[in-house]
Amino acid sequence: MTARILDGNALAQRLRADFKTRAEALAARGTRPGLAVILVGEDPASQVYVRNKVNACAQAGFHSERISYPRDVEPQVVFDKLAELNADPAIHGILVQLPLPKHFDSDAVLKAIAPAKDVDGFHAENVGALMQGHPRFIPCTPYGVMKFFADAGIDLRGKEAVVLGRSNIVGKPMAMLLLQASATVTVCHSQTRDLAFHTRRADVLVAALGKARFVTADMVKPGAVVIDVGINRLPDGKLCGDVDFAGVSAIAAAITPVPGGVGPMTITMLLANTLEAAEREVG
Ligand code: NDP
Repeated sequence: MTARILDGNALAQRLRADFKTRAEALAARGTRPGLAVILVGEDPASQVYVRNKVNACAQAGFHSERISYPRDVEPQVVFDKLAELNADPAIHGILVQLPLPKHFDSDAVLKAIAPAKDVDGFHAENVGALMQGHPRFIPCTPYGVMKFFADAGIDLRGKEAVVLGRSNIVGKPMAMLLLQASATVTVCHSQTRDLAFHTRRADVLVAALGKARFVTADMVKPGAVVIDVGINRLPDGKLCGDVDFAGVSAIAAAITPVPGGVGPMTITMLLANTLEAAEREVG
């Protein structure tokens, strides 16, 4: 079997075209969806992520603001800015690019974002709402993964789903969404015994552990759907996922590539969350 490639660039393009139309409809009613992105420090990867987010907003016809601070900024300056953005009617979504420098209490910063503008979905109130099955904002990466299933017509009911990784931004919300779609979910992590025992049972396997080409063909059930969230840089500078694409694509039914899979969907779902926030506000 040669796997069907789930093309994140193509799906992202289709979704973004729809968002642009919806943003134009909102603008005609006097509201432009607006996203504010706060960046602290000069980390090159974070700078690229923030630039991509701001550019994606411009292409979709959204308003965006990029607010940058040097890495030694006083945390109170950021808290004051968040309070200002929380009250700003032109801003529907706020995100603080992580990681923050060590002198910041990241949890306190995330809590200072108004839950109604928390487009990353990391505020405890939004995490709780997701857990209870009535999410306001779904964290962007797992939200994007769910879009792949919907777009490819993959019915998750009763499927064995295995998630590798239990982070707050990917693994845990991913597991919750799969559970809500009525899959039977197993979450694996660094202390899991006999990982391959679990992965070989998976009809749907989501790899989000941050280890280059960790998942090999012998760990995958033939005919499985494999979603590769990982982004790893190889010594030659090239990007690769957590899945050995060459081997696994020969036996899986469907697979996301890296790059060009989950990555483009993450920013797309940030646009989705910002747009949904603006639409909710307009009513
Ligand atoms: P974290 O480092 O926060 O979490 C990694 C998880 O993987 C942890 O739960 C860890 O277990 C688990 N893990 C690590 N090693 C193993 C192992 N050998 N066996 C089983 N489990 C293991 O990473 P993130 O969740 O933030 O990100 C995961 C990957 O996804 C990274 O490559 C990241 O770059 C990428 N990413 C991609 C995005 C995209 O848009 N495509 C967006 C966000 C992330 P434990 O909890 O026990 O330590």
